[in-house]
Amino acid sequence: MKIILILIIFISSMFALQVQELTWPKGDSFLTFLDKYNISQKLYFELEKEDKELCSEIVAGTEYNLLLNEDGTLKQVLIPVSEDMQLHIYESNKGEYKFEAIPISYQEIEETIAIEIKKSPFQDIFEATENLALANEVMRVYGRSINFRRIQKGDFVALKYKQKIRMGKYFGSPELTAAMVEVNGKKHYRFKNNKNDKYYDEKGRGFSKTYFFKIPLSYNRISSQFTKRRWHPVLKKYRAHLGTDFAAPKGRPIYAAGDGKIIFRGVKGGYGNVIIIDHKNGYRTLYAHQSRFKSGLKVGSYVSKGTHIGYVGNTGLSSGPHLHLGLYKNGRAIDPLQVIKRGKEIKLSGKEQATFIANTKDYFNELNLVVSDENRKLPTRLARKESFTTIQ
Ligand SMILES: [Zn+2]
Repeated sequence: MKIILILIIFISSMFALQVQELTWPKGDSFLTFLDKYNISQKLYFELEKEDKELCSEIVAGTEYNLLLNEDGTLKQVLIPVSEDMQLHIYESNKGEYKFEAIPISYQEIEETIAIEIKKSPFQDIFEATENLALANEVMRVYGRSINFRRIQKGDFVALKYKQKIRMGKYFGSPELTAAMVEVNGKKHYRFKNNKNDKYYDEKGRGFSKTYFFKIPLSYNRISSQFTKRRWHPVLKKYRAHLGTDFAAPKGRPIYAAGDGKIIFRGVKGGYGNVIIIDHKNGYRTLYAHQSRFKSGLKVGSYVSKGTHIGYVGNTGLSSGPHLHLGLYKNGRAIDPLQVIKRGKEIKLSGKEQATFIANTKDYFNELNLVVSDENRKLPTRLARKESFTTIQ
């Protein structure tokens, strides 16, 4: 209810005052933003730890909306920090500002679509859906497991996927639920296993390249788990922590969680001394609050899994020495421990396999229906079911 109210206020106030659409400048931090609008830094320093860390999640290039009073002071601002969370700063009384992390509201379409292959699966998916990220995701899921060059004219692709839409534009990454690509009349299925985010065929055989990360330090305990958009009933607000905190003494070595290239090495807002490593397959890891970096490494350096990169500390905003480990897939924060834990299994077996097959049977039937012989004679977009959901 509260969120809806905020949106109503936000929208209604647009009539009187102009909403500005801005892009977060490179090098700006949350504190420089407050300074720019003459807002006391106290707003930031009085935040709780998790909220402070969210302020460090703002990425240069993020589009955000800002509303000014007639005298040029800030009335309110909404800054997205992930696909579903945004920071809301607003003037409650004259010159007095409040901060909250709130969900981003968006629509979601769920579509099942069959596409006749005329050029290539990539090209035809893109042309039918105008969704480049979806075409890329299908290619990523199949990887080299099938030979796309053997596809004949008249073969079909069938997809079931979800896509968020915000302000009339595709927003965030598409979620591919199920896919079927025909190669010379033979059907190749892939279904997402929600338990581990990996893809398997209709019998539970896996094809995804397994990518392993290791825990980057020897730690004493996990002091804060990854949480996303969790409603906190006592505080009556949304809490999010987009990483895992490992408590360890100052000076403990930190090692790269996987092979990759250093793309950031410096101070990053409340995260203090940060290294970001770009791995293959759209993954990035972030290591925050380091006391110092291991010498000899710089932006552009290649590191292997286990390369010593820095030392545990409490730089930036940190209540005690710990490593905050962030893991991002295609720019979206995901739970590092889930990825580290998920094991090496290629094929599902036993109860896991049975559950997977039972869960994906409906999708299997649905994809078969949209490419059944009678449906193939229908023009182009054979089956398009759209259901709109507005998520608050
Ligand atoms: Zn943290």
